[in-house]
Amino acid sequence: MLATKRIDGKARAERLLVDVAAAAASLKAEAGVVPGLCAVLVGDDPASRVYVRSKGRAAISAGIESFQETLPDTVSEAELLALIARLNADDRVDGILVQLPLPKHIDPQRVIDAIDPRKDVDGFHPQNTGHLWSGGKALVPCTPYGCLLLLREALPSLAGAEAIVLGRSNIVGKPMAALLLSENCTVTVAHSRSRDLPAILRRADILVAAVGRPQFVRGDWLKPGVVVIDVGVNRVEADGGKPKLVGDVAFAEAQGIAAAITPVPGGVGPMTIACLLENAVRCARYRRGDLDYPG
Ligand code: NAP
Repeated sequence: MLATKRIDGKARAERLLVDVAAAAASLKAEAGVVPGLCAVLVGDDPASRVYVRSKGRAAISAGIESFQETLPDTVSEAELLALIARLNADDRVDGILVQLPLPKHIDPQRVIDAIDPRKDVDGFHPQNTGHLWSGGKALVPCTPYGCLLLLREALPSLAGAEAIVLGRSNIVGKPMAALLLSENCTVTVAHSRSRDLPAILRRADILVAAVGRPQFVRGDWLKPGVVVIDVGVNRVEADGGKPKLVGDVAFAEAQGIAAAITPVPGGVGPMTIACLLENAVRCARYRRGDLDYPG
């Protein structure tokens, strides 16, 4: 039986954060610039508050200035757009992060479209999305970029691999497909209307699962030797009634079949925050005329 490797996202993220802190420090030393990241939080969703707080704490420890704008969930779309315009014009702010989801009366795409593409730390603005798909320089969405870094750890080369992305959201699935294509994988995107998912998934050398359903992908859907990146974060009740987090893949069933798999928690999650902060430093350089495709 295959010994399945656990891909340690926490350790990889810690290494990336060291690099991000060094990049922030050299920007300060060379140009006198401290990168600034502003999170915009609308309403008081407890999970969103926790995410924003942990992003803020991580920013500060990487030498990035952290700002937060909190608005009530009764705020109008026009008021939110006016705040985005102010942040676009604020020289202290290099990256603008609008925590999703937004209240139902606000169109998230209009808000994303209003962000200066050079301050689009999440990489969701159509200009960055377009550049990502056309192979240009872009700010890349943090979660799929973190997944790519983990895949590069697990595999010597991605070229030619059959990669299946399960899920087609704008945040994870679609940009993940674009990144894998740019790594010369053969990419299939599967979703809720795909026929015979187990048969599609059994083709995968690389599987990225971003479906948001607890342990949806079963062990017998996996090809022996597949590398699995599990993006899902699902809260379920464990024995004794205490909640616990599980991924979209049945982790225990993947043991002995997959070559490697990310755990939940401790896989993709820590990479997302580290990649967000890397993007914040890239935004600070981008506004000053310097943008590289992330290496
Ligand atoms: P999403 O917007 O809800 O998208 C889910 C995708 O899964 C959709 O494309 C949907 O297909 C597909 N899907 C749903 N049910 C399905 C089924 N029965 N069979 C096949 N496909 C199905 O979710 P998301 O924002 O991409 O997030 C996915 C998961 O990743 C969630 O658990 C989320 O919490 C997690 N996440 C984690 C991080 C992190 O940093 N760790 C970051 C972002 C997201 P349709 O398009 O056809 O509806």
